[in-house]
Order: sequence, then C-alpha cells, then structure tokens
Amino acid sequence: MLGGTFDPVHLGHLRICVELRERLGLDHVRLVPNRVPPHRDAPRASNAVRAQWIADAIADEPGLVLDSIELDRDGPSYTADTLAVLRERFPDSPLVCILGQDAFDGLVTWFRWEDIGELAHVVVVPRPGTPSSPVESLPGLMRTDRIEDLQQSLHGRLLAANVTPLAVSSTQVRRLLVQGRSVRYLVPDAVWHALAQTSEQSPPVYDA
Ligand code: ATP
Repeated sequence: MLGGTFDPVHLGHLRICVELRERLGLDHVRLVPNRVPPHRDAPRASNAVRAQWIADAIADEPGLVLDSIELDRDGPSYTADTLAVLRERFPDSPLVCILGQDAFDGLVTWFRWEDIGELAHVVVVPRPGTPSSPVESLPGLMRTDRIEDLQQSLHGRLLAANVTPLAVSSTQVRRLLVQGRSVRYLVPDAVWHALAQTSEQSPPVYDA
C-alpha cells in the first residue's frame, strides 16, 4: 500500500507504485487516501474528489488499485489500523507499506508504530528535497537489502529502494493552481482534465 493525502495525486505517487510493483514483484499496489490525516492539516479537496482523481488516474493500469478503506472509517486514519485490516484480508501474503523518506522520518511518532512491523514490511523511497538519512532497523523492522527477504516472509523487514526521483509534491501542484499556472505533466492527464473543468466552477477546488 501507498497511503497519503493525495491532495491531489501526482506523477511522483504513481511512478513509485509502478516501479516498486515491478521491482518487488508485487501483485498490486493499493493507493489508500486518508480521511483524517493524523499529522497534518485536513486535505483541501473532498474525500470523494480525491478518490475519484485516483480512480481516474489508474483506470487503465491494472496493477494499481484504489482502496477507500480509510475514507470509509471514522476517526484519524492510522496506518497501523489500516494494515491490520489488510492483514485480515490477505492473511497469507507479504504486505508492503511504502513510505517516502519524509514520511519514514516521522514514522516513530505515529500511533502504534511498533505494530507496523508485526503486520507488514516497510519500503522507503528517497524524496527529492528531503535529505536522505540512513534507513536503519527499528523495533520489529529488520533492515535488509534483499528483495527475497520481503517475498519469503509476511512482515517485519525494512528495505530502502531507489525509484526515479521526481521532485513533485501535492503542495507544489496546489500552489501552482492557486497562481493560475499549469500543472500539466505533474499530474496524470485525467487529473489535469478534471482540474481544468472544476476551475471553471466557483469556488475552485484549490483557492488562496
Ligand atoms: P503534500 O505536498 O500535500 O504534503 P505529498 O506530495 O507529500 O503531499 P502525500 O499524499 O502526502 O503527497 O504522500 C503520500 C506518500 O507518498 C508519502 O509517503 C510521501 O513521502 C510519498 N511521496 C509523495 N510524493 C513523492 C515523491 N515525489 N517522491 C517520493 N515520495 C513521494
């Protein structure tokens, strides 16, 4: 799974999913938008709109799946809770929780973060603009450089993986939109089209 606010989904998110699916031999990657992110401001776009953008962006990419598990759950969107549900759904499969370096740097502040290694592996990808700090073992998450280790156990391994660095963020996309500038080729075409349509409405999804 790749959890996030996806406000909006951008090409950085999608390349991570596509590249790691191939590299790690994953059956699929679930994109999990949060309803109430515990560590940041509420998203600007509604739950339904963020989910629809993801659905439109991945419609012709069979390896990517939208999972609205957190949108359908009341209260803060804790990753440990989400992984517990996914573990019940997929009892016999390795689960991988993908985190950008910026998210990983805050992991030990997350609610019940120690449970995460009991439920899933963690794979960390570099984030342009975030200094790459060492990805070292944590309680319940043993560092490895071997992809086979993730395939041969259900949870508990920590891997750092490179993906094509794309210095795009949802913050940048929102800022450009507020300035009336183009976000084409930073977001999937489906999202660009949807944003173009909504910008004709009043008020736009993202405003100052
Ligand atoms: P915002 O700018 O609003 O904070 P964001 O671009 O960081 O949004 P999120 O939806 O919060 O996007 O990110 C979800 C996950 O994807 C996080 O683990 C984050 O680190 C990772 N991520 C997002 N964009 C990139 C990127 N360009 N490169 C690497 N990781 C990324």
